[in-house]
Amino acid sequence: MNQKVRVRFAPSPTGPLHIGGVRTALYNYLFARQHGGEMILRIEDTDSQRFVPGAEDYINESLAWLGIKIDEGVREGGQYGPYKQSERRDIYREHVKMLLDAGKAYLAFDTPEELEAKRQEVANFQYDASTRLSMRNSLSLSADEVKALIDNGEKYVVRFLIEPGRDVVVNDLIRGKVTINSSVLDDKVLYKSADDLPTYHLANIVDDHLMQVSHVIRGEEWLPSAPLHVLLYEAFGWTDTMPAFVHLPLLLKPDGKGKLSKRDGDRLGFPVFPLEWHDPKSGEISSGYREAGYLPEAVVNFLALLGWNPGDDTEIMSMQQLIEKFSLDHCSKSGAKFDFEKGKWFNHKYLQELDNEQLAQLFKPVLEANGISGYSDQYITRVVSMVKDRINFVRDLWDQAQYFFVAPTEYEAKAVKKRWKEDTPQLLNSLIDHLNTLEDFSCAAAETSVIGWITDNGYHMGNVMNAFRLTVVGDCKGPHMFDITELLGKEETIARVRRGIENITVE
Ligand code: GLU
Repeated sequence: MNQKVRVRFAPSPTGPLHIGGVRTALYNYLFARQHGGEMILRIEDTDSQRFVPGAEDYINESLAWLGIKIDEGVREGGQYGPYKQSERRDIYREHVKMLLDAGKAYLAFDTPEELEAKRQEVANFQYDASTRLSMRNSLSLSADEVKALIDNGEKYVVRFLIEPGRDVVVNDLIRGKVTINSSVLDDKVLYKSADDLPTYHLANIVDDHLMQVSHVIRGEEWLPSAPLHVLLYEAFGWTDTMPAFVHLPLLLKPDGKGKLSKRDGDRLGFPVFPLEWHDPKSGEISSGYREAGYLPEAVVNFLALLGWNPGDDTEIMSMQQLIEKFSLDHCSKSGAKFDFEKGKWFNHKYLQELDNEQLAQLFKPVLEANGISGYSDQYITRVVSMVKDRINFVRDLWDQAQYFFVAPTEYEAKAVKKRWKEDTPQLLNSLIDHLNTLEDFSCAAAETSVIGWITDNGYHMGNVMNAFRLTVVGDCKGPHMFDITELLGKEETIARVRRGIENITVE
């Protein structure tokens, strides 16, 4: 590649950034970093109707949380700014004029009512070569009439003059050549005098050109706009420096039937946004990966594999490894099913990678929320080390380990039914006597001694050990029994067995 790689992520601040948008940002970032290029964050806020306060901050915070670093943008600055489209009005005005002067665009005065009337009159009405002369625009009206309308303050739009009957080729690095005949395109609005703002199409092309973008990597939903964009490059005379197009496959619903939506997340209980979002208008709260307990590294890894693969079965990859391995050749054309169970699996894997000390720190707020305090870091760290292989989220530590902090007051009914026999209280009373004799309550010593005692007395190993566990844990699951008793200590262990004997009854 001769040209310097410069990519952009160009979200519109119309609400929380969807997880699909995050994947687009991530692929841009991986591609830029791999090629030693630059990543631009451009805020496309030209649709004043759809602007949502807080959305821009949300975008910045999301990318920062995930470790997607921006080289040029509103916050970062850069030599091609401003990076917010609403601050680039002069530039767009100038470019609209260039097209008008070259006869590649025209003014249209049709009111919304007139357009609606036309739609009622003509089936499948499209503003194009076949209809434009029957409309009120600078092609159908005389120069004097146009001038009079403008002088009179009439609102107008600028439309792109599309010549029909031409094959327009979009070269997409994932999809190959996509050819569309210009006759199917309409004369798109490029600018609106009412708010002195360009539409997405004009602003996007002008900015990609001026910001020297080399690759436009974006979601598949923008593919239908690409032929129009190719024609705009041509109209400006910029074909030689036109960026390469890359349209990423859609993220599909978990069952593969249709595009992933916010409703799928609500219905199936997984977030479709990176961070929790509080809608400023409705007050509605949408869940986010961060608040749901995902580690950013896990989300990055999970998203990277939704539409791309490294060419082998490697699944766990750090950001650095993703940067090294990423390639457009291995991006798929077909949509990627959003397998949120796999997302949990990634989180599980990344949690296992954390040090027990780190995990203990993350567990502390959960403990506090459950009214637990006063335990040493060392104690919490040991608890974590015993149960972490059973968790997908930090909060799961509580479900898995609460008996290390609160003695059971209830005993799992099925386990009781299965494990509590008539002679169990008597057996456990003898076990208490034996435990009382132990000087060394460490895992290895207690284990050897208790197992020896069971064997010497000819007791049934399973019966004793399961009943023992039931009294201490409240259930018949958990890590190695003598690791638990070592941490709880002799006194607490014996107290629990005693309480179990008193409280467990079989109907
Ligand atoms: N502003 C568009 C969006 O919100 C950008 C599309 C593009 O990348 O060209 O997704």
